[in-house]
Amino acid sequence: TNPYPHWAGAIRDVADFPRPGIRFKDITPLLADADGFRAAVAAMADPWRAAGVQAVLGVEARGFILGAALALELGAGFVPVRKPGKLPGATLAQEYALEYGSDRIEVCAGAIAPGTRVLLIDDVLATGGTLAAALLLARRLEAEVLGAAVLVELDGLGGRQRWPDGLPLQATLAY
Ligand code: 5GP
Repeated sequence: TNPYPHWAGAIRDVADFPRPGIRFKDITPLLADADGFRAAVAAMADPWRAAGVQAVLGVEARGFILGAALALELGAGFVPVRKPGKLPGATLAQEYALEYGSDRIEVCAGAIAPGTRVLLIDDVLATGGTLAAALLLARRLEAEVLGAAVLVELDGLGGRQRWPDGLPLQATLAY
């Protein structure tokens, strides 16, 4: 039996991207397929339909694409979490460690009212640093974090260990 939905075949493996030795899951062929895109977004939304999500926080850049679609699907607003220097006005910034060096993501200060029920979205969970940093930003916004949803979880990279026990982290596909 095939545990993967038919549309999962539209996700392409690219060797040695963005660096030698990395196998990259490219979701752009899935996004380009009308039926596949719709089915993927519906599958990501399904566990959250009755959760009362008020805002989706999506991480740049593919988290914007999936997150905006999910926000519409769930009747929620959308809040962008961006790379440094992209957002206007006052921002909250969160550093996180990479394999070599560190990176930073930002959100607009006051983007949501304290207590807003939020869902975090990204396309892929790898080492988990990005999603963990987004969670810290959401907490600093005083959001009520319901959990996170990713389209793809890459097993064996420890991503889930960097996510708090007991907080839902829903992956539609795992490889
Ligand atoms: P992490 O912080 O979990 O190591 O990496 C997750 C971030 O890097 C996500 O924002 C995700 O978009 C990107 N990423 C890491 N690996 C992949 C991959 O194989 N495919 C895609 N599409 N994105 C990846």
